[in-house]
Amino acid sequence: MELKEEIILLTPEGKRSDGRRWDELRPIRMRVGVLKRADGSALVEMGNTKVLAAVYGPRESHPRHLLPPDRAILRVAYRMATFSVEERKKPQPSRREIELSKVIKEALEPALYLEEFPRTAIDVYTLVLQADGGTRTASINAASLALADAGIPMKGLVTAVAVGRIGDQIIVDLNDLEDKYGDADMPIAMVPVTGEITLLQMDGTMPPDLFEEALKVAKRALEIIYNEQKKALRERYLRIKDEVLGEEK
Ligand code: ADP
Repeated sequence: MELKEEIILLTPEGKRSDGRRWDELRPIRMRVGVLKRADGSALVEMGNTKVLAAVYGPRESHPRHLLPPDRAILRVAYRMATFSVEERKKPQPSRREIELSKVIKEALEPALYLEEFPRTAIDVYTLVLQADGGTRTASINAASLALADAGIPMKGLVTAVAVGRIGDQIIVDLNDLEDKYGDADMPIAMVPVTGEITLLQMDGTMPPDLFEEALKVAKRALEIIYNEQKKALRERYLRIKDEVLGEEK
């Protein structure tokens, strides 16, 4: 008989598989303006999940007559690098990547003033360099920073995180193990300045009272991530200021 190794997602002391408490986010690192040839770019790490985002545009696109006369179109391509997961991922875009591109586009679009750039295209590329759960939410965080870096007018940044459930315990910022073996996984994106929720998905099940609690927990986590995004943008502007002042000397 084969003995299956049991996966412990939550110890009796309340520790998760990577040692975090239920409400603890993974270490966050964000850097804006990492690519020279992109109009805007950002690198976002949520623990072992690492995503690079690049924005090009607003720019002309052909055929022009297919572009709406009253606004820009937003195109999003989410991809996972072949080396981002344990077993090499095939380079061809999978169905999952195509679906996530759409989901990320819909999470970003409500935050943008696309009507300011009629007959143009804005292209957003997000590339997962390393995957450990929450790649769509990290992609949204990175893409919204890259859009801001490209100078695209926005109502506000879009901030995202996943919350979930292990038994009756809500957990925040799920890793790959928790995503796969937990009881629920609920990615959420929000425009914190307006309070608008632009993405809400759920795998698994969540009783109604826990759903309410999960939303509250997500909002607290989003606040922390949003502050990190603002900090990363400020650092970018300070670097630009230093460069400009350096040239003037
Ligand atoms: P998200 O990354 O947004 O949580 P999913 O729930 O689809 O999206 O994926 C959860 C996790 O599963 C990913 O973050 C990644 O760690 C892992 N994963 C996704 N696709 C693959 C793949 N092709 N091979 C191995 N692991 C994968």
